[in-house]
Amino acid sequence: MEKTVLIVEDERAIVEILKFNLGREGYKTLEALDGEEGLRLAREADPDLILLDVMLPKMNGFDICSTLRAEGSTVPIIMLTAREEETDKVFGLETGADDYMTKPFSMRELMARVKANIRRRSLSYAEKPAPDGAVLEAAGLVINPETYLVTKNGAPVDLTQKEYDLLVYLMRERGKVFSREDLMQKVWNYAYFGDMRTVDVTVRRLREKIEDDPGKPEYILTRRGVGYYFAG
Ligand code: CA
Repeated sequence: MEKTVLIVEDERAIVEILKFNLGREGYKTLEALDGEEGLRLAREADPDLILLDVMLPKMNGFDICSTLRAEGSTVPIIMLTAREEETDKVFGLETGADDYMTKPFSMRELMARVKANIRRRSLSYAEKPAPDGAVLEAAGLVINPETYLVTKNGAPVDLTQKEYDLLVYLMRERGKVFSREDLMQKVWNYAYFGDMRTVDVTVRRLREKIEDDPGKPEYILTRRGVGYYFAG
């Protein structure tokens, strides 16, 4: 099925080159030239992925991202930032983005990331039925891979796509420790690029959503100097 990418970007020239390249890769595109229109289209058109500029008229990309996440949206979001500051990159991830790229970016790399972040493709691992064909369960945490529903003590938990992918991946291999590089490759499908802080921030966000005390995690544990694993 044709996938739709929403481009929220106020620079016409960038919109045009993104449209051209995404179209060539077989994606349908929607565009918004300001933040309010971007938020409206994100809500109404239900895109498969959003490319989100940070500095936008009317509403900035960080606010759009955190608004969508607060509403429970799990659409993959890649932030496009023109700024070089490290804090801005991490802040984008904190607001719930799945990834970010700094302008000027390589179109080839961006297309690879779009492909890796589109739900159907990147969920290939998570979509495999659990070994026993059943839901995944651990101390009050339940995941149904067929419906993508995650509950903690019976209450639904809204996870972004990458948070979900990461949780399912670790849970299926519980007890096994994975390095950040392993997770970047297996969960993000990035073989040759990616910022390891993306893994750390996603783990932190996931802990804030599923742990009783994120400072003393009981599900996703850190093996100092090695990586992360699911308790078990
Ligand atoms: Ca801009």
